[in-house]
Amino acid sequence: MRIDLHAHSTASDGTDSPAELVRNAAGAGLDVVAITDHDTVGGHEQAAAAVRELDRPLTLVRGAELSCRLGGTGVHMLAYLFDPEEPDLARERELVRDDRVPRAQAMVARLRDLDVPVTWQQVARIAGDGSVGRPHIASALVELGVVPTVSDAFSDLWLGDGGRAYVGKHELDPFDAVRLVKAAGGVTVFAHPAAVKRGRTVPESAIAELAAAGLDGIEVDHMDHDEPTRARLRSLAAELGLLTTGSSDYHGSRKTVRLGEYTTDPEVYREISRRATGAVPISAI
Ligand code: AMP
Ligand code: FE
Ligand code: FE
Ligand code: ZN
Repeated sequence: MRIDLHAHSTASDGTDSPAELVRNAAGAGLDVVAITDHDTVGGHEQAAAAVRELDRPLTLVRGAELSCRLGGTGVHMLAYLFDPEEPDLARERELVRDDRVPRAQAMVARLRDLDVPVTWQQVARIAGDGSVGRPHIASALVELGVVPTVSDAFSDLWLGDGGRAYVGKHELDPFDAVRLVKAAGGVTVFAHPAAVKRGRTVPESAIAELAAAGLDGIEVDHMDHDEPTRARLRSLAAELGLLTTGSSDYHGSRKTVRLGEYTTDPEVYREISRRATGAVPISAI
């Protein structure tokens, strides 16, 4: 069984439509894929429809990646198999999404002050109807020849946390996120908790407190964690009784990682589906 529990579509900052994501996951030989767009379930319906049309079996886990902040540190909470209709969690997703537009516009204004000729029209075209974020602005900077790759835009010079053109957005308290997801019948996994290249990370004590508050697991095998970091996170998880996952965090052509490049143990996946009561994995055939 090959299981990839973290992937983005055009519903947020990936480049595959939700249907393409599902077809590419099947093409990559995956048995299970999770759609985890930032702060939205907007791709769920199209992804589910695409699963039903495949000519090979694939299970779709419907999820989202919730933007959170703890102290001054941005953290991402993966949420799986929650009830997408549950109003309290739906309202929080909407608050974050709504704030993303003026925030992206403010980043465009900062860039223009830095003499970068980016426009909101350009960023809006790139984002389409996806939940707009820094990767869309980064793609605009690549188009303009300001930086060679999307990932080069995430520096202090441009869009990195605290960078010259960085503007914050509304984000959830991760303890609230854990509580809200659980109340909606879902399961939470702390995404790339030690990804130092994305900026500051939280101390292990914060992971322990989140575990005590009901966090289910942490993402360990991820492109942004080196081998010593993974070993440290694995022993922390064992100590705290947390599940550990591995995932690609696929963003289509916006990042170099491939679907299925990192995977999750089938037993962990089964445990996640056992714990969830808000939604069921979707499979056809
Ligand atoms: P936002 O939610 O708009 O603040 O953007 C966060 C997204 O930017 C993350 O989900 C990643 O897709 C991307 N990102 C953050 N840091 C980096 C980085 N260092 N290199 C490439 N992409 C990044
Ligand atoms: Fe992203
Ligand atoms: Fe993330
Ligand atoms: Zn992600």
